[in-house]
Amino acid sequence: MSTFTDAVTDDGDSSDSDAAEMFPAVTDALSVVTKPHEYARDWKRRHDAPVVAYLSTYVPREILWASGVLPVRAFGSRRPEDVTVGDEHHNRRLFCPFSRDVLAQGLLGRYDYTDGIVLASVCLHLRQTFDAWVQEVASEEDFTHYIAMPHGTPAETGDEFLPVKRHGVDYASAPDGGTCPHAPAAYLTTKFDRLRAELESFTGAPLTDDDLEAAINVYDRSRKLLRDIYAYRAEPEPRLSGTDATALVTAGQLMDPHEYVDVLESALAQLEDGAGEPRAVDARLMVVTAVGDDRTLYRTVERELEYDATIVVEDSSVGTTDFYRPVSEPSRGPPAKDDDPLKAIARRYLDRPPYPSKQWDNRREHLRSLVSEYDVDGVLIVLEERCDIHLRDIPHETNLFEEELDVPTLTVVAEKGRVPPGQLKTRVEAFVEEITTPSMEGLY
Ligand code: SF4
Repeated sequence: MSTFTDAVTDDGDSSDSDAAEMFPAVTDALSVVTKPHEYARDWKRRHDAPVVAYLSTYVPREILWASGVLPVRAFGSRRPEDVTVGDEHHNRRLFCPFSRDVLAQGLLGRYDYTDGIVLASVCLHLRQTFDAWVQEVASEEDFTHYIAMPHGTPAETGDEFLPVKRHGVDYASAPDGGTCPHAPAAYLTTKFDRLRAELESFTGAPLTDDDLEAAINVYDRSRKLLRDIYAYRAEPEPRLSGTDATALVTAGQLMDPHEYVDVLESALAQLEDGAGEPRAVDARLMVVTAVGDDRTLYRTVERELEYDATIVVEDSSVGTTDFYRPVSEPSRGPPAKDDDPLKAIARRYLDRPPYPSKQWDNRREHLRSLVSEYDVDGVLIVLEERCDIHLRDIPHETNLFEEELDVPTLTVVAEKGRVPPGQLKTRVEAFVEEITTPSMEGLY
């Protein structure tokens, strides 16, 4: 018998968000974040159009939206569960609690209004969730689609998208000098082309380049607005807390992009008008984690310590990795307008700040730039239990922060979906104390 609680994301955000009173836009975002299913059902009713769940931020939301589908990220509840245990088809304890929690939501019928599921690969755990969802949750008529996302891009080669050498094969010597079918951008474009064709057959309507351009424009608009909003987190005494910034980012993974742009425009206007109390800051922290949707952790760090800590930025899928680098502003290669829209989207997803386990060199650059852009004093690394892909990056992360950038780190583990609150409070408090205490080195 399941002990899973009924609430999905009802964690009190809407009632205890300090900034929500000063930022009506954050309240709007929280109303979606805390009741995502209500929002999606209402959207479906209003638009009489399909809603499709997606399992990672490598899924190109632009393409789904261009076909008339609302993409809604499937999250877990961040509560311990036993729904996925005991059936060999399900995602068992071998897999990370986050991936099992997401699947549990599907098995419990929380996504019964959705018309499909899409995954772009990040790890085997979510792949298992996807396969189990297709077998156990989706109906025969549902749209189910898997995108094999390349795990490496060749930034270090200086050669845009050619994987110069992989598994002993020298792709740089491809006779056409850059359009090697194994090059990630070309490869991913073919995958997106197949997604487009399958969406056309699912919706029964053509998906044109104009539709794609329109979708790129609205998603890019939200990415640029978020970037402008995040600039306020770099203030010496930020008026936007990490807790509320994260709510704004999460909302974008659940909402109609046009409605989301309205929310972000309001948030930016409110910040420009001087809304929000400057936060006293003993320590400016960065969170580095795979998912990053646990706002309880943010609240604990920002509101329950003896010290004034503020999370000024995060490297996570609910954070900068999701919205840095719009389609129209690739860090390499020509701008989107000179390109075929599907390829431009493919470039963006290859060129965005990578998830752990993908392209460490690009990650290193991104992490290094965040430390300086947001003037970070310390890094809180949050490892999801059994997340082998982040575990693999952590030695590189600590080495980068501590040895190269001289920024201290603290690593905590989210067990069964959450870092135990008492342990989190005690350890982060000690960490902030260490950051704020002047070094005794050289005094004796
Ligand atoms: S937390 Fe790690 S292991 Fe779990 S789904 Fe995310 S990337 Fe995969």
